[in-house]
Amino acid sequence: MAIVMHNKSTRENNVSTHLKRMGTKTAAVVAAAGAMLAFSAAPSLGQQQFVTIGTGGVTGVYYPAGGSICRLVNQGRSEHGIRCSAESTGGSVFNLNTIREGELDMGVVQSDVQYNSLHGIEQFADAGPYEDLRAMFSLHPEPFTVVARADAGITNFEDLLGKRVNLGNPGSGQRNTMELLMAEYGWTADDFALAAELPSREQAQALCDNRFDAFVFTVGHPSGSISEPIATCDAVLVNVTGDIIDRLVEDNPYYFHATIPAGMYNNSEDVHTFGVGATVVSSTNTSDEVVYQVVRAVFENFDEFTALHPAFGVLERETMVTTGNSAPLHDGAVRYYEEAGLM
Ligand code: GLU
Repeated sequence: MAIVMHNKSTRENNVSTHLKRMGTKTAAVVAAAGAMLAFSAAPSLGQQQFVTIGTGGVTGVYYPAGGSICRLVNQGRSEHGIRCSAESTGGSVFNLNTIREGELDMGVVQSDVQYNSLHGIEQFADAGPYEDLRAMFSLHPEPFTVVARADAGITNFEDLLGKRVNLGNPGSGQRNTMELLMAEYGWTADDFALAAELPSREQAQALCDNRFDAFVFTVGHPSGSISEPIATCDAVLVNVTGDIIDRLVEDNPYYFHATIPAGMYNNSEDVHTFGVGATVVSSTNTSDEVVYQVVRAVFENFDEFTALHPAFGVLERETMVTTGNSAPLHDGAVRYYEEAGLM
């Protein structure tokens, strides 16, 4: 068994640099603003606030999700003065930890990661319960998706045993879900011929280059990250079913049975698996006004939002408020939902 270490995502490393840079920029802008825009009715540059959403790899759905949210927020920036940017990161667990460190304002995270962090369990046992974590809304479903080379003889999750498998980069939601599954199945990394740790943006190419037999990705559908290896090298989707999966779904509020319907990619039949939901979270450190404006931008421009990515086609405003959010809703979000009659 060999572990392939990936170089830590440069973008991941860049998040704090970027934020520090923005902090400096904000300070400079604040100093200049009084002189420049003292008589403007719109928020002056000095009143502008920079907020950042942590997402995932550029080929996933979190990154365009964050970009879509920010695009709608930024359309209203002359009124509210908030300038939003989406950062590509290592994924859910990275986003949650970085929000907790105060270096991201918001992030897209899997519903299981939200739940575990709130309660301080599983991978967050050392950190303890995150009492300041706040939910904003949920997004698209994310089936746990296994993609294999057609020549690898893998038709169900159990067939991964002994194969070359990309487990995902540390910090990603899929790595987290995969480790949980491995524990349930009684497997360790040594049980694979190769346990790779490539981030999502590199895994499709690596699969087609025959560097491993399969990769796992907890992601919304349709996604370019899945269609690419299917189109380029005839990769196939694999079922993730069995007693262990049934029990996991039964025991945990954030898991559900999921189906990738026939025809979504090259699959002539439905692919059965289980999944989580993507959610957008923040913390009590992010102001009510910022969260109110971000939520408002998405919900007031809902048709525009759902048209920005095909995985958003299934979204409904009511369920985004009522499902997948285990942390308390942020006060700024509650303010909007009450105004809009959504709660
Ligand atoms: N679910 C993945 C994660 O939590 C990210 C999926 C995506 O990039 O769309 O890391």
